[in-house]
Amino acid sequence: MSFVKGLKCRECNRSYPKEPIHVCSYCFGPLEVDYEYDEIKKALTREKIQSRGKNMWRYRELLPIDGMPTVGEQVGFTPLIRANNLAKALGVKELYVKNDSVNFPTFSFKDRVVSTALSKAKEFGFKTVACATTGNLGNAVAAQSVQANLESYIFMPADLEQGKILGTLIYDTNVVKISGNYDGVNRLCAEIASKYGWAFVNINIRPYYGEGSKTYGYEIVEQLGWKAPKHIVVPMAGGSLIMKIGKAIKEFAKLGLINEVGTKLYGAQASGSAPISTAVKNGWDMIKPVRPNTIAQSIAIGNPADGYHAIKAIKECGGWAEDVTDEELVEGIKLLASTEGIFTETAGGVTVAVTKKLLEQGRIPKDESIVISITGNGLKTQEAVLGKVKTPKIIKANLAAFDELLESETKGQSASGGPKVKKAVPV
Ligand SMILES: *Cc1c(COP(=O)(O)O)cnc(C)c1O
Ligand SMILES: [Zn+2]
Repeated sequence: MSFVKGLKCRECNRSYPKEPIHVCSYCFGPLEVDYEYDEIKKALTREKIQSRGKNMWRYRELLPIDGMPTVGEQVGFTPLIRANNLAKALGVKELYVKNDSVNFPTFSFKDRVVSTALSKAKEFGFKTVACATTGNLGNAVAAQSVQANLESYIFMPADLEQGKILGTLIYDTNVVKISGNYDGVNRLCAEIASKYGWAFVNINIRPYYGEGSKTYGYEIVEQLGWKAPKHIVVPMAGGSLIMKIGKAIKEFAKLGLINEVGTKLYGAQASGSAPISTAVKNGWDMIKPVRPNTIAQSIAIGNPADGYHAIKAIKECGGWAEDVTDEELVEGIKLLASTEGIFTETAGGVTVAVTKKLLEQGRIPKDESIVISITGNGLKTQEAVLGKVKTPKIIKANLAAFDELLESETKGQSASGGPKVKKAVPV
């Protein structure tokens, strides 16, 4: 049973039927999925959610499909970690990491939006799906379209990281490399979408796609014991995820599943592609598009589709936004890895480094609950840290060589310290 009423313009509130459309033909505002919340309130309880499988579809009444999901049934419910070591390093009391670097099947939060978009594309009867990608979206569309027996076309900037390119090519779908940056790719895809009538997950079926991001927020709240955190730091590319996390928390409050605590959202960008954080810091309502220049390619969008609404969401909750340099983001990647054992990609490095900056500025208080959103996996962006980690010495395969190495590295101090282990004696 579906709880979706239809689509509604975010600007002028005009209603539209459930169709593969994304802009209001009256005011050109973006369309948003509209639900029957009164009916959902009767149907959805904490107990019902908890009785279901550990994946994002446990919240399916709040997702925009009419039947059961047919693509990506196992996506989501990634770990929320109490990050005590990182908390200590940052001098804060209560810190969590929501870890989508281990999302299934392609190791980023994009698996959530893609399982939603492709399940919807199947309901609409599309045979071919496509996307314009900064990397992770292409990985997810390629992998999940294979699973769903859909034809797919992935359009990407030619200079993406090797891990992102290979992570799409391996699925043997159709990959088109385009010279120039993501904004050019996206413009071209808008034309292809109207000419060929394919389901472009982040263009003509964007209203449905974006709803998948809400599950990242639902999970944080459920995993904290049905309690929203005071502060959430979120990386921003097109600006959709941050807005949808805000929507998710509001929906849970509206449905009586939690008490509202006035969660503040903080947007994180790389200084080389920071149109949203620049607008927030300057008090602008509108985005001034930029030409991206950063190693954080997954979030390098100069003209963000939901930029205006991301600014609005940040302002409404009393949050803020910041950006960091490429050097700072590399330090962020290394800090998370060396404290929590989590290897994130460049976008995650941005989020960690921005959190640190906002704490130093006093924008986020040190004694309230904070969640850091980790959205992608470091093995896909190895270029960012290659040559910036220790280089181990190579030794011969004998004990004397190791003794010598240990002696030199511990500078004569004994490196022992474990329990004394007796020689094994048979009984
Ligand atoms: C796409 C992406 C984001 C941000 O997504 P938007 O919803 O477009 O703001 C964040 N992190 C990673 C790793 C991504 O791939
Ligand atoms: Zn409108």
